[in-house]
Parts: sequence; C-alpha cells; structure tokens
Amino acid sequence: MFLALGLTAVIGLTVMNVYSLYALHENKVQNSVEKQKRQLLEYTNQVRSRFRVPVRSLWQLDMEELKASLATPSEVNRDFLDIIEEAGNDGLFSEIYLSTPDCTPCEHYGDPVWHYRKDIGRFETTTVYEQLVSDGLAITRTRMNALVQDYRWNTRVIFDTHYSMTVALINSASREVIAYLLFVIDQDYLVQSYMGPKLNETFGTGEESGIIVWLHDWTRNEVLATTAPEATYSYQNVDFIQNFPDLLNNWNLKAAFTTNPDIAASRASLTRNLLVLAGAMILLLGTFIFMFFTAQRERSLAQRQSLFLANVTHELKTPLAVISAAGENLSDGRVTDPERLRSYGAHIYNESLRLRTMIDRLLDVARSSSNNIRIRKTPTRLPEFLNGYLRKKKSYLESHDVTVDLSAGDQMPEIEVDQSDLQSILDNLIDNAVKYSPDEKFIGIQVNGDPDNVALQVSDRGVGIPKKYQKYIFDKFFRVEDALTAQTKGHGLGLSIVRDLTIRNGGTITVNSTPGKGSVFTIRFPHNGPPGPAQTASTPTQHHRKAQEPEHVS
Ligand code: ADP
Repeated sequence: MFLALGLTAVIGLTVMNVYSLYALHENKVQNSVEKQKRQLLEYTNQVRSRFRVPVRSLWQLDMEELKASLATPSEVNRDFLDIIEEAGNDGLFSEIYLSTPDCTPCEHYGDPVWHYRKDIGRFETTTVYEQLVSDGLAITRTRMNALVQDYRWNTRVIFDTHYSMTVALINSASREVIAYLLFVIDQDYLVQSYMGPKLNETFGTGEESGIIVWLHDWTRNEVLATTAPEATYSYQNVDFIQNFPDLLNNWNLKAAFTTNPDIAASRASLTRNLLVLAGAMILLLGTFIFMFFTAQRERSLAQRQSLFLANVTHELKTPLAVISAAGENLSDGRVTDPERLRSYGAHIYNESLRLRTMIDRLLDVARSSSNNIRIRKTPTRLPEFLNGYLRKKKSYLESHDVTVDLSAGDQMPEIEVDQSDLQSILDNLIDNAVKYSPDEKFIGIQVNGDPDNVALQVSDRGVGIPKKYQKYIFDKFFRVEDALTAQTKGHGLGLSIVRDLTIRNGGTITVNSTPGKGSVFTIRFPHNGPPGPAQTASTPTQHHRKAQEPEHVS
C-alpha cells in the first residue's frame, strides 16, 4: 500500500513537473510573440516619424509672418524656403506643391497651385500637375474645415494613402489655415530604399528570426516587400496584421510567427524532458508491477515451503516411530518367536530404507539449490551408465511392475557429468513416470547423438501434462492441479531438482507431453567427442540399426 501511495505521489509530481515545463514553454512562446507584435507597432511608428523628418521645423515658423510672405511666390519667407529646400532634397518626396486657402476653387484638377522648382529653389504658379495633387489637397481641406476650430497646434499632417502627404499650416491664434503644403511621395524610394531595408533590419531575414513580415498592399493584394522572399505569401499563413497609424491606409504589415532557434531549443528541451519523464514513469510502473508479482510469487513460495517442511517432518517421523517401536520390543527381549523376530527385522530394514530415500531426496534439494557444493564431473558414456543404473534400480522397477525399454547406440560420445547428479535426475524422472502412469507403467529411455549434444529421453505412457502447466512444472513446489496429482505423494520439487542439476552439468531440459498419451522429457548434454564412428552410430537414422538389444525390466 505504501508503495502504491509513493507511486501515486511520484506520478502526481511528474504530472506537475510536465505541466510546469509545458507552461514555461508556452510562456516563452507567448513572450516571443508579444515582443514581435511590439516590434511591428514600433516599425509603423518609425515609418511615420520618417515622413516628419524633413518638415519637423515647420511648426517653429511665425505663421502671421509666413502668411504675409505668401502673397507673392517670389517673396516667400526665407526660413520657410530653407525647410522646403531640405524637403526637396529628400528622395522620399518627388514634388512639392503649395496652395493657399483663398485659392478658388482649388478643389479641382487644373486650378492653379504653387509648384516648388528644385532647380531654382523657388515656387511658381502652375495649372499642370497630377490628379493626386488636387486629390491630396481636397482631402486635407475637407478634414481641416472640420478640425480647425478645435485644433491647438500650428501644423497638421494628413496622408492620402501612399500618394501624398499634406501639411496644413495653421495660425492657431486666429484658428485659420494659412497654406497647404503637399509632398508627392516617391513610392519606389519609400519601399525600395526605406521600408524594405528597414523591415530586414528590424525583423531579421529568413526563418531564424522567428517571424516573416510582408509589407502588403491589401487593395491590390500585392506584396511590396518581405523579410523572407523564399516564403510565398498566403492569407492562411498570416498570424497577425498591423496597420499604419493614420498613414499609408492601403498598406499594412502581415506577419507569420515561425519557430526561432530560442523557441526551437525550448521545444526540444520540453520534448527531451517529456521523453525522459515518460521513460522514468514506464520504468517505475514496470518496477512496481515486477515487485508486485515477485512479492506474490515469494508469498506463495513461502507458503509451499512451510507446507513442505510440515510434510517432511511428518514423513520422517513415521518410519522413525516404526523403527523405535520395533527396536524397543526387540531390546526388551520379549519377542522370541523367530517368525516375529524376522518380521520386526524386516520392518526396521524397510523403514530405514524409506528414511534413506527421503534423506537422499532432501540432500538432492540441497545440492540442486546450492552453488557451493562441488561438482565432480567425470567422462561418462551414457549407454554403459544407464545399463548399470537400471541394474541397481531393478528391484524398485520390479516392485512397481514397470516395463523399461532402453534404446541407445553402443558407440555414443562421452559426456562430462557428475554421475551422482545424473543418478538423481534419472531417479526423479523415473519416479514421476511411475507415479503419473496409473495404467500402463512403461518407461522408454533413449539416447541419441548429434554433432554437438547427446540427448537422453525419458518417456512414459501416463496421464501427460496439460499444455498450460508445462511451463511451470520445473518451478519449485509446483504441482499440476488434478485428481491424480492430489492423490499422489510429492512436494513439487522433483522436476525443479532435475532442471537445476541438468543446468549445473551444462545441459538443457525440455518436455513434450500430450494429456492422456504420455510425456517425453529430453535432456541434452554437450559432448566433446570428436566426430567419427561414435557419432555416426548415434544419428537418428542409424540408431535402430546399431541399437543395443532393448533391456526390458518388468
Ligand atoms: P511432484 O513431487 O509433485 O511429483 P515434480 O516437480 O516432480 O513434483 O513434478 C511437478 C508436477 O509435474 C507434478 O505434480 C505432476 O503433476 C507433473 N508431472 C511430473 N512428471 C510427470 C509425468 N511423467 N507425467 C505426468 N505429470 C508429470
């Protein structure tokens, strides 16, 4: 439970961590976007200021004096002319015109206006000018008629989109406009020499800057300048639009926010963190699940172990009780009848044999599960070993009415095994074959060889093992859950001993079993015999020809 609580706390912390990392990243993205929006606004303000540069001194003029000097083009105030000259030299303006309010009607194309001649530095009256001049003057005149009464300053700049900029010169005391000064905007200069380069200077070029800006004429859907010529403009890509304040009304800035290296690094770090956290979570969950199942297994193992101890103690006590009772009767000298004496002796002998078998099994358990017990491998030729073994086992097999069929080539290569381990392996396999064959007690023992191994197969025609249990039968204390096993004595240790001893001797064990038909246990030991007649004799095809006369024990 504590583990589950701890895990929940760790998961909670991890989720919080991931969330704060995400929030941090989002914050960074937001900040970067906000900064870029501010830069867009700042850009438009700077463009506006650029227009004011050549005319910034106009407001310092004495408007009364200027008005008087404007009576005749040739007598215009000198300070005023200096400013006009400076503006005339600015590439931003291609032409400069002046119109006085008393010009009648001066709202239509062809009405006389003053034109500044840059070559001679003076104004001259003209009726030949572009339509945009009368348009710019008319717009400013209309706007000023509405504004002039409440206006407190002596200049007012009004734009006719990107065509012209008109400055209304105002006598703020008498609240009257004394003249309109119109500057024709050179669009090529404005875009190519000022706004375009300034875009790149402000926002940087290409994707690295984290923003793409287009200077767009929305009335004609035309891109005038951009910071990324390689990126094609599309309205779908636009994330933000910035208009120009009170000027260039047909134009605006369109921006697409891309990923700059800073944001990309932050995203990469977020992804990295997420991956590491996800990995850690999976590892943690895996560990938890593993620990849970290990604990379950350990618990059931402990239960089976204590059951085993109780059973063993009981089984050891039974023959001991018989031996001590028989011994007591004999030592009293009360039993004199030779027949009864023999019977007591037989009891003591049989029970001591039972005891010895049990102790041998216990020693097997200890030996198979201990790595410290030394293993004494000796070169062993299986056919000879098996013949000897079966001879020793004869009385056991006879008493259990078992038929044994041994089939082994006579020239099998030698294997290196501990013979007492091999004997325990066979004892256990044969014991099982007998126990789990309720009807026909038949044991087949076969020895085959291949270029690498010698295979020893022990088969029976017993109840067999259901498929679903086959992978567990080599586990300690595991017993198949069926009626026959329940009635049969055992602790689920035999096959685990067989497996451990086999592995200890460098071998492998497999089982092949069909319920109702019987089981085959195959143990393979590597041999070091050179390929030659010995091996040829043991190949499956030649095996029957060379096989020894089967030895039947019944
Ligand atoms: P046990 O002491 O129960 O015989 P083992 O480890 O030797 O323990 O065997 C584990 C289980 O495998 C047995 O309980 C039995 O159900 C099954 N088993 C082992 N050998 C055979 C066999 N030759 N035929 C059928 N079932 C077998």
